[in-house]
Amino acid sequence: MSANHITPPLQGPWVDIDLGNLCENFSLIRSAASDSEVAAVVKCNAYGLGLAKIAQTLADRAKCKTFFVVYPEEGAALRNALGHREARIFCFAGQTDQTLALFDQAKLIPVLNTLEQAQHWADHCSGREASIHVETGMNRIGADFSDLAKIASLKNLNVKMVMTHLACASDPDHPLNSAQREKFIAAATHFPDTTLSLGASAGALMGREYQFDLVRAGIALYGGAPFDEDDTRIKPVASLRAPIVQLRNIAPGDAVGYGATYIAKKPSVIATVAAGYGDGYPRNGSPVGNVSINGERAPIAGRISMDFITIDVSDLKKRPELGDSVEFFGSAVRIHEAAQTTNRVSYDLLTGLGGRVDRRYL
Ligand SMILES: *Cc1c(COP(=O)(O)O)cnc(C)c1O
Repeated sequence: MSANHITPPLQGPWVDIDLGNLCENFSLIRSAASDSEVAAVVKCNAYGLGLAKIAQTLADRAKCKTFFVVYPEEGAALRNALGHREARIFCFAGQTDQTLALFDQAKLIPVLNTLEQAQHWADHCSGREASIHVETGMNRIGADFSDLAKIASLKNLNVKMVMTHLACASDPDHPLNSAQREKFIAAATHFPDTTLSLGASAGALMGREYQFDLVRAGIALYGGAPFDEDDTRIKPVASLRAPIVQLRNIAPGDAVGYGATYIAKKPSVIATVAAGYGDGYPRNGSPVGNVSINGERAPIAGRISMDFITIDVSDLKKRPELGDSVEFFGSAVRIHEAAQTTNRVSYDLLTGLGGRVDRRYL
């Protein structure tokens, strides 16, 4: 359970999490990058889907042995969830004075992001395995190219992996991809005989050139395409659903929701569904979003509120009933489509799932 998880409301929203499809997506990456090790990125509570259950499933059923999180606190929780399973756990943030003890207790491996951090690790954890993130064009995090020679010459620094991250992998034709790749290869010459890691989900699916020794798969495991275009080889994992809690007939001229932005043009049936932006469905999903009810699509009517969304179900062939479930994204509405209509990406739809959304594992 995530730290912010509360007892789920009986009639509230839930997310079905298909662990079989999670493993199939892992296999997809494994066959796409067959010469590389596939590591799972489980940061941010496994993209909102629950760190412990996701990591245990990947370890037990997909035989995943390498995991990435950002913070050592996440790494310690992951180590705890994995128990006696064999696993290497990398922390993208690296260590600080305050977190050194966690690295020791939970056997975490830092991803070093600066010369200073590398020096600090060498000083305090002499000879213990580390990895290094090199900056190659994203200008976000990572060691500068000009510091690499110094880092490589630090005594007692045991760099086993060199990594970088692509800024524009969502567009495989973007010229920055190959520029970063070349800079990465040049950077890696400072650290001979190390594991090289460049690709995340997108890189893993972009072909041998971008895979190197280890790929760090995140979003594709969780059912999102890493590209601007959807990739239907990736199976849906998370389905956000909620029940219809009221059905109401309204007359022409009647308004629906905050601001009375929706006015019925004809006699209509409005279904009120027990999920809102507080649960992670974006407020700007109104008026463009549509949902799936019993296999049919229906439009959102009126503004999305924190706890409720109103749907115009007038045109459905089968009139829904109280308690019928409505899918916002998942197997009927692919998350990529839901993200595009709400001007989001699948990453933030998943990580934005609210604390009161019951995580149900299938
Ligand atoms: C989040 C992250 C990943 C995973 O990216 P996806 O696009 O979700 O596969 C890999 N590497 C780094 C450095 C990351 O921050």
